[in-house]
Amino acid sequence: MTLIDETSTIPAGGPTLEQVRRIVTELPGPRSAAILARKADAVASGVAHSMPVSVVAAGGGVVVDADGNSLIDLGSGIAVTSVGNAHPKVAAAVAAQAAQFTHTCFMVSPYESYVDVAEALNRLTPGDFAKKTALFNSGAEAVENAIKIARKHTGRQAVVAFDHGYHGRTNLTMALTAKAMPYKAGFGPFAPEVYRVPGSYPYRDGLTGAEAAERAITLIEKQIGADSLAAVIIEPIQGEGGFIVPADGFLDAVVAWCRDNGVVFIADEVQTGFARTGAMFASEIFGIEPDLVTTAKGIAAGLPLAGVTGRAEIMDAAHAGGLGGTYGGNPIACAAALAAIDAFENDGLIERARQIGEVLTTRLGAMRDSDARLGDIRGHGAMIAVEFVDAETGAPDAALTAAVAKACVAEGVIILTCGTFGNVIRFLPPLSIGDDLLNEGLDVLATALERA
Ligand SMILES: *Cc1c(COP(=O)(O)O)cnc(C)c1O
Repeated sequence: MTLIDETSTIPAGGPTLEQVRRIVTELPGPRSAAILARKADAVASGVAHSMPVSVVAAGGGVVVDADGNSLIDLGSGIAVTSVGNAHPKVAAAVAAQAAQFTHTCFMVSPYESYVDVAEALNRLTPGDFAKKTALFNSGAEAVENAIKIARKHTGRQAVVAFDHGYHGRTNLTMALTAKAMPYKAGFGPFAPEVYRVPGSYPYRDGLTGAEAAERAITLIEKQIGADSLAAVIIEPIQGEGGFIVPADGFLDAVVAWCRDNGVVFIADEVQTGFARTGAMFASEIFGIEPDLVTTAKGIAAGLPLAGVTGRAEIMDAAHAGGLGGTYGGNPIACAAALAAIDAFENDGLIERARQIGEVLTTRLGAMRDSDARLGDIRGHGAMIAVEFVDAETGAPDAALTAAVAKACVAEGVIILTCGTFGNVIRFLPPLSIGDDLLNEGLDVLATALERA
């Protein structure tokens, strides 16, 4: 283990961090507890946290807290540190750029790294057509801008989003997001001209992809009208909604209908992008070519960066000065993104995501064989989830889910829940995690499940 400096007991982050689960205090330990008490006094209580720790280092497959507890990371800070926390290439690129210049505002004095990121996104996103990119700070901001661009391009206003969809916490993206608690309750009024239709949730709706697409398209045609519709936005695999994988044939039918009707199809790949699903983008799994793709989370290993990438003629619809922002495409974030993209492309991370998916689905599948409370196991690559249900009725079991997650947390495993019904545990490990730690995390889950 490397220490930050010789007088410190805090380990340096990154892949040299000792790859073990080690719980040396109750969680939170005294140092974390003191910081969390200050958090309660100083930070708005709407900003909640799920792990009772204060982090000092992270890397590979672990997160270390102020008391020296080393936790297995099965969340990647919500699908962000896919290349690994404090990845050496990213850390070096960030340090070098910070020493060079930290900001000019790309809209004032442009620089090459922003152009490099745009070229990389144009090349890597699905579709063999001319593309352009604009960079922003967060997933929500990317989604907002994709809608702006689609409206300007089509001259239409309505936008369709889906049941179980999640697109962010700003006003327009709250309107696009399905779930009231905790994302929307009390925060209205919401942006107008947003319509929600059912998507495809094979485990619960029992429909084929074609049937689910027909249901959605009929509602769109009858209740909105194609002539009023600027865009349809969907996550190819719904993230916060419960890692819902649409039935085969659903997405391509919706894409085809959009194309026939001059509607911009936006794939929100903020969570699914950048190798997470065992493909560079999840759209590839379903054989679709979105008109616009939104990206963020995994793009820059934790530096705030987001993008909208898509057909050049759509992207160019906005007038000069109509898109941008003070920080969008910040040079340090761009440097981090270029280093992360280098790792995604050259360090076998897509393949690694598939291997992680194999381990997860094999182990979870074995648990399910003897435990009917695991209602559904789904996802792709390193984006896998279990939906917990009442073994008799199949009803969502949020209480069991919360109890299992809490037990895992107490044993030093960072685990995230999700789902409209709060009954899904999702696995989003960093692609830098080793099989040993991954299996140990699943052992902890299996024990928690037996005891629950
Ligand atoms: C997280 C997420 C967002 C919002 O991204 P932020 O960076 O938190 O604003 C949007 N869409 C999807 C699919 C997400 O998972």
